[in-house]
Amino acid sequence: MWRPILFVLLKSEPDAKKTAALLGWLQMMGFNVQTHHNEEATVLELTGDNASLDVAMLRALDIVAEVRPDWVGEKPAPPYSQPDGIVAAGGVKFGGGDLQLIAGPCAVESWRQLSCIAQSVKAAGATLLRGGAFKPRTSPYAFQGLAKEGIKLLLAAKELTGLPVVSEITELSQLPLFENIDVIQVGARNMQNFELLKELGRVGKPILLKRGAANTIKELLLSAEYILAGGNEQVILCERGIRTFESYTKNTLDLSAVPALKALSPLPVLVDPSHGTGRAALVTPLALAAVAAGADGLLIEVHNSPECALCDGEQAITPDEFRSLAHSARDIWPYRYRY
Ligand code: PEP
Ligand code: MN
Repeated sequence: MWRPILFVLLKSEPDAKKTAALLGWLQMMGFNVQTHHNEEATVLELTGDNASLDVAMLRALDIVAEVRPDWVGEKPAPPYSQPDGIVAAGGVKFGGGDLQLIAGPCAVESWRQLSCIAQSVKAAGATLLRGGAFKPRTSPYAFQGLAKEGIKLLLAAKELTGLPVVSEITELSQLPLFENIDVIQVGARNMQNFELLKELGRVGKPILLKRGAANTIKELLLSAEYILAGGNEQVILCERGIRTFESYTKNTLDLSAVPALKALSPLPVLVDPSHGTGRAALVTPLALAAVAAGADGLLIEVHNSPECALCDGEQAITPDEFRSLAHSARDIWPYRYRY
């Protein structure tokens, strides 16, 4: 896991005053310190940015027995768990060896629209249904989503198809509405809404965290850390394109984020080629490239009538196109790069 962590094992029966001084100093350095005691030892678990920490100096303190980045199976194991990289959501598992395909419209527009798309993506092999009820739009005059009514329709589509559902939260006060939503999406614009992330750290539900258009891989991981630090280990990362000088595409899909995130973290990684390109014609090729690169799943915008979509129609593929995408993605899946 890319989580700057150090475990500081104290010598047995460490001096209380020196221990308190060490704790104070570490906290002053900006670390979050959790103390674990068991019969054999006291272990300080540090999370935070350890770039400026002088580990040699820490090791030299007379109450410190050892400093290590991980426990690697040694005793005494602190009561600490790393995310195992598998996120269960409404009967499906991200990172559990199966390809997860989240498909559906950018925005829930009506029951007629959603029920039609939901049934066709299910028949085409989607494993989860998406639909935005709260839409963070660049223009205040653009369709803002059906809000509460949109969530109601999405839950009705869940009932109709049996597919678990994914929807985006844009504000803390909406949280009660998400009680029966299987995966809560935090969109690119809210990747650094730290108060929202902290609150989602206290929710017992999977969080799909999208990378901000102008955020680095490290910043994405630090945002994930906000959720993990609150105790919610069900975090799914999503690459959705970043802003570059290229203007032919809406964003530049950074597929290097897949191997990078896989190397740095055990969390499942999804790719969203819809927002990553903004062009329907580019969605399938990049979706397949993402699967080949070892992504755990895809997030694809599908609309039964893209030219009439109230949101992101230019990047929506049709149910038929999605069927063929899903088919090819599953063909490639056994040959994907494995981490
Ligand atoms: C979306 O998934 O519809 C969305 C708004 O995505 P992003 O936050 O990546 O722009
Ligand atoms: Mn969209």
